[in-house]
Amino acid sequence: MDLEKLKTCVHCGLCLEACPTYRILKNEADSPRGRIVLMRGIAENRMKMTSEVFGHLDSCLDCRACETICPAGVSYGELIEQARMETYSTVPGSILNFKVKKIFLTQILGHPTLLKWIGQLLRLYQKSGLQSMIQKTQILKLFPESLQKAETLLPEIPPPSNLTKSKLGISKHSALHQNSGETMKQSPRISLFRGCAAPVLFPQIEQAVIQVLSAAGCEVRAPQNQICCGALLVHSGFQKEALNFIKKNLEVFQKENPDFIVTTAAGCGSWLKECSKFLPEAKRFSEKILDFSELIHYLDFNLSYKPLPMRVVYLDACHLLHAQKIKDEPRQLLQRIPELKLLTPTHPDWCCGSAGIYNLTHSDMAEKLLDEKIKTFIELNPDAISVGNPGCALQIRKGLKERGLKIPILHPAELLQMSLRKESLLHEKLPKRC
Ligand code: SF4
Ligand code: SF4
Repeated sequence: MDLEKLKTCVHCGLCLEACPTYRILKNEADSPRGRIVLMRGIAENRMKMTSEVFGHLDSCLDCRACETICPAGVSYGELIEQARMETYSTVPGSILNFKVKKIFLTQILGHPTLLKWIGQLLRLYQKSGLQSMIQKTQILKLFPESLQKAETLLPEIPPPSNLTKSKLGISKHSALHQNSGETMKQSPRISLFRGCAAPVLFPQIEQAVIQVLSAAGCEVRAPQNQICCGALLVHSGFQKEALNFIKKNLEVFQKENPDFIVTTAAGCGSWLKECSKFLPEAKRFSEKILDFSELIHYLDFNLSYKPLPMRVVYLDACHLLHAQKIKDEPRQLLQRIPELKLLTPTHPDWCCGSAGIYNLTHSDMAEKLLDEKIKTFIELNPDAISVGNPGCALQIRKGLKERGLKIPILHPAELLQMSLRKESLLHEKLPKRC
């Protein structure tokens, strides 16, 4: 572990109340400051990696809310990921668990075709009525808890989505656009970074991105053979394996050589932007990565949005807000839609407990955070919730469903897509996904 970076913490404690686990547990060892003390103790060989220490480090969501508030600029995300990478394989009693997790994450996430097949089997499970039958019995209780939790998170799986040329709507427009101050003579060429789970669970988000960008005159491509970015791996301490995923993606995207690479998932975007710290040859690739909201906001396309009379709550995804520092862009984008009223909940920045696979591995804490989160916006009674990360959408959808609430959850791209359509959309036309 990088002792010098660990020493940048001045123990002021300003991060404590921003930390979701400290807010719930009120235990110093479950705060950013406490975890830094533990990591430093291990790095200086004053402490051993016991299962108790592991528990405190492992309960961190890697949400990076502590980074936003820290006056000393502590790179907490990098520190916890490094600590996980260097110490988790030595934790007594959890070596098998560590290895199983590694095999699961590398073998499944690294194979998009396998993921697509899993998606279709799950669709069959839902459509055949087997899901409702199983839910009525107690059979799921015989399976590991993480599998039971995963089942409750499943949205309705749509049919497989192949991004053919016609769906990509490749545009021949040639217009002048601004690229962060530099004039671009041609329409920007955009490549879509699809991610692993989103194309299976939320293909409508990438369709919305493609339609909005095509309407703006961009040429949008979805390079074949791209794979998962590896963000889930790096958050779990498997940096080497995550970088292997990046190397594979580098080959694919270097051939395409787009002007920008757009992502729709907060965790993917932050890792794709930061991976070049550990893989210098990925620098140009990383520099081209933009979240959808950044891309639309900074290229400042002159699109004519139609009225969308809706009251919408926008919720910050941690890896957009704290890791990528994207706060105003999605809000300003949504405010361009006439008649859309953006509601401000208390604590829009509080973590929902999703955090990659945290809601499967630490379900008790994730449930508490979800409950806390839903209470912050529910009294606003919104027509829709907008969030720029599919993992958060799954978690919040689960929380709403358990409370019998039917509020659609839409990515900002979907709201822009709805507003750009010719007909003015009414409430009853909203997708019913809850
Ligand atoms: S705010 Fe920063 S410097 Fe202060 S205790 Fe937290 S991590 Fe350390
Ligand atoms: S990353 Fe999030 S959960 Fe972890 S210490 Fe920082 S604020 Fe707390």
